[in-house]
Amino acid sequence: MNILPRNGIFEKTSLPYKLEGLLPVISKETLQYHYGKHLETYLNNLNTLLGDSEFKNESLETIVQNSNGALFNNASQVLNHVLYFTQFQKPSAENKPQGYLKKAIEKAFNSFENFKNIFEKQGISLFGSGWVWLSSDDSGNLIISQEENAKNPITKNLNPILTFDVWEHAYYIDFRNNRAEHLKSLWQIINWDLLELRYTEKHRYHF
Ligand code: MN
Repeated sequence: MNILPRNGIFEKTSLPYKLEGLLPVISKETLQYHYGKHLETYLNNLNTLLGDSEFKNESLETIVQNSNGALFNNASQVLNHVLYFTQFQKPSAENKPQGYLKKAIEKAFNSFENFKNIFEKQGISLFGSGWVWLSSDDSGNLIISQEENAKNPITKNLNPILTFDVWEHAYYIDFRNNRAEHLKSLWQIINWDLLELRYTEKHRYHF
């Protein structure tokens, strides 16, 4: 993925579902705040900070990899949220990885069930605000990482595939303080076809 500004301005990525489309896992009200207000604030801050900076007209990924301070925080939060919101689809209890990503998950974590347990635990144990990520390295191996606050694995030269937002704003309306229950419910809405593309597009020459 390479997210580019239009005339120097980053625009909001539209959702591939309706605001009611993720019920009962994520409510319309949560999306109205999380996508409608939190992401919008990061986006407005990013566009304001870019102004006439050296990063004007650069891709979002380039800004995240090369900036720091407020510009990094806002750019990275925009990238994190774009990856987060676009990875969802309507709920299904049958949601499972397929293809190359399924094989890579089983290679790295023995089974999908084991992977889910580890991923949830990393989300639960992250103190404060941040994100848990599934990423791949240059050889296509999978890695789970906790990233504090706004950090994104592309700053470690990893390819981000899946993420759970553990900032309280992601779950407080629907699950109050119960982060664990929120994370557990997210598996129902993961679009594994899209994640397969995120994985294989980066590693097509390794297969
Ligand atoms: Mn968030």
